[in-house]
Amino acid sequence: MLAAVSQPAPEQPTEAEWAAAVSAITRLPADGRILLICHVNPDGDALGSMLGFGLGLRRLGVRQLQATFPGRPEVPEPFREMPGLDLLVPATAADPDPDLVICFDVAAVSRLGDLADRLDRAGAAIVLDHHASNTRFGGIHLVDPDAAATSVVVEKLLVRLGVPLDAGIAECLYIALATDTGSFRFDMTTPAVHEMAARLLATGIRPGEISRRIFDTRPFGAVRLYGDVLGRTQLEPSGAGGLGLVWTYATLEDLSRHGQRPYTLEPLIDSVRCTAEADVSCVLKQVAEGEWAVSMRSKGGTDVSRVAVALGGGGHRLAAGFTGYGPVSEVVDAIRSELDRATAVAGRGDAAGRDQGQP
Ligand code: 5GP
Ligand code: MN
Repeated sequence: MLAAVSQPAPEQPTEAEWAAAVSAITRLPADGRILLICHVNPDGDALGSMLGFGLGLRRLGVRQLQATFPGRPEVPEPFREMPGLDLLVPATAADPDPDLVICFDVAAVSRLGDLADRLDRAGAAIVLDHHASNTRFGGIHLVDPDAAATSVVVEKLLVRLGVPLDAGIAECLYIALATDTGSFRFDMTTPAVHEMAARLLATGIRPGEISRRIFDTRPFGAVRLYGDVLGRTQLEPSGAGGLGLVWTYATLEDLSRHGQRPYTLEPLIDSVRCTAEADVSCVLKQVAEGEWAVSMRSKGGTDVSRVAVALGGGGHRLAAGFTGYGPVSEVVDAIRSELDRATAVAGRGDAAGRDQGQP
């Protein structure tokens, strides 16, 4: 885990790695069993990359195919109309020893939870990812740290497999791409990203309808919940080495008071990070008594992956996270001290520079 910022960033996949991935898939016998896995608490890129690729494999004629993710099998509300959902099985029903495992958007084995054992038991494993902090687990690595989303890597592999885009595949990959680029707002929104979006839209998918469903639809209870949680946001202008820190937290009690599920809180960081007076934003989301899933973002002045890695997590330079333990005050204290350390290091000019801040 400590590898994320101290090692050189991984390079782009080599021709040999692409060829190995293609042959691992095409050489499977007709009854070969493939298990697709994305990371715990899947986001749009994780689910969209996995299901889009699953639909592509189906077009190739693969029949023994499952898709899954660790933990609760519940699909977050915004993704409940995503094409390919019929491929999903709960982790408890996932093939115990598939012929081939393919992982999506998973930077480290820890993000596979109880499904990590499939890597050892499968005949082969392909990892499609775009995290610079990827720990190079599994056998065949298609890890492109310059890709805006894992779905960029997925599209390239589909091309090499000779699978044409259809509307179902395109919708999955579009959701993935739009999620990780912040709806084409972040810096990694290159010409190539827009070219990929153009190929996806050319299949006839409707970006307005998809965006409304994925980003702009929330139950009323969630709107009220956001009101409570945003109402207790704290601004510390001297935090993060003077660049400013803004943070808030949400408890399980907040969720139950408003009848909401934990994934409702995923977009909350976007409402906090818009604070003009702070470079660094944090949201602590309670997972259990004394346990918090922490999301961190920077606008560019701070390498938050340094902080997250130091506290047992990982991520990108501008978007990272970790699990914090203890009362809110202690978790925030730990963040404050690591932020001071990170900004001091950045001041010496050796902060990890390659990563682009994509989730
Ligand atoms: P988010 O705040 O959206 O949950 O996560 C932002 C990024 O931080 C993710 O893409 C992921 O790379 C990373 N991340 C978040 N939580 C964790 C964690 O607990 N462990 C690790 N290794 N990475 C995390
Ligand atoms: Mn991603």
